[in-house]
Amino acid sequence: MAQAKGYAVSDVKAPLAPYSFERREPREHDVAIDIRYCGICHTDIHQVRDEWGGSIFPMVPGHEIAGVVTSIGSKVTKYKIGDKVGVGCFVDSCRDCKQCESDLEQYCTEGLVLTYNSRERDGSPTMGGYSEKIVVDENYVLRIPDNLPLDASAPLLCAGITLYSPLKHWHAGPGNTVAIIGLGGLGHMGVKLAHAMGAEVTVLSQSLRKREDGKRLGADHFYATSDPETFKRLKGSFDLIINTVSADMDWNLYLDLLKVDGSFVVVGLPAKQVPIGAFALILRRRSIAGSAIGSIRETQEMLDFCGKHNIVSDIEVIPIQKVNEAYERMLKSDVRYRFVIDMASLKSS
Ligand code: NAP
Ligand code: ZN
Ligand code: ZN
Repeated sequence: MAQAKGYAVSDVKAPLAPYSFERREPREHDVAIDIRYCGICHTDIHQVRDEWGGSIFPMVPGHEIAGVVTSIGSKVTKYKIGDKVGVGCFVDSCRDCKQCESDLEQYCTEGLVLTYNSRERDGSPTMGGYSEKIVVDENYVLRIPDNLPLDASAPLLCAGITLYSPLKHWHAGPGNTVAIIGLGGLGHMGVKLAHAMGAEVTVLSQSLRKREDGKRLGADHFYATSDPETFKRLKGSFDLIINTVSADMDWNLYLDLLKVDGSFVVVGLPAKQVPIGAFALILRRRSIAGSAIGSIRETQEMLDFCGKHNIVSDIEVIPIQKVNEAYERMLKSDVRYRFVIDMASLKSS
């Protein structure tokens, strides 16, 4: 066992604070990683506040991990010491079910071993990326392209893949129209990726405050959802709408913005259930769907796509001592567009 420093919440009402814990020694197929940066995902906030129930404390959050390999197990073939690597939302799956066998392990029948707030097969709790190091099976580690900086690549491991996967699945590309609801960590990656795929991209944001940013990120159009005119003007406009918002809102309003056969895809996770009217769906054969992160194969494909198109996240790098403040700012949509923790700051904690 190796001692690791990190930041954890001790229970549901506690702030994040310095915490020491143990990481396993690398097994035959394990890669030990020196974590350089970790992005802050809104999911981290949901989990430390136990908004979905079942949170495990103490909890070291963080699943947008970018770092460098420091040692490898005797049977590792995919990585070597010094490689730039990433770890996303999960570190294991059953490897045996239909989904695991068909590169859809994010939908593993037995359930994923998540990077934090979860349990390994031996029952030990997993601890995430707000820490100096991590040990992960090589099959659940990603390669970060050499031309991309580690800090701004970290958010690709969750925000990037969570938007890339539905954009690919619902065929975003030349000749079709995509709307992204919410220009936050996930949303701004959606704009960059959909634009790079060749789709016509619209941002639906609460106000016009971020309009210039939206255009710079690659949006063709930008509308405020606080303006009722937006919903009249955009009726029947989109092939695909991806909703990244976790706050409660009326999805029915957005269904009406879809074309015939259009899809409204949920990736943001409000705690409350949302009532849906049947008519908006049947009259134009519209669909509502959901999408969760992406497989390891697809995450690597996304990273390679980002390497090719020079896409990274727009980030604000913070020392770990500012993480509680960053959570408060995220809750006010005051981040452009992802906080990333510089793990070197742990040394002064
Ligand atoms: P974020 O950075 O906080 O962005 C959310 C955006 O939602 C905000 O920037 C804001 O955009 C908009 N918003 C906030 N409050 C709103 C309100 N009251 N009404 C309407 N819009 C509001 O969060 P994130 O990290 O992108 O995560 C978003 C959600 O996705 C979270 O629920 C997270 O748990 C979930 N998630 C899901 C997956 C998955 O696999 N499906 C993966 C990762 C995260 P504007 O200012 O532009 O309106
Ligand atoms: Zn996430
Ligand atoms: Zn499985």
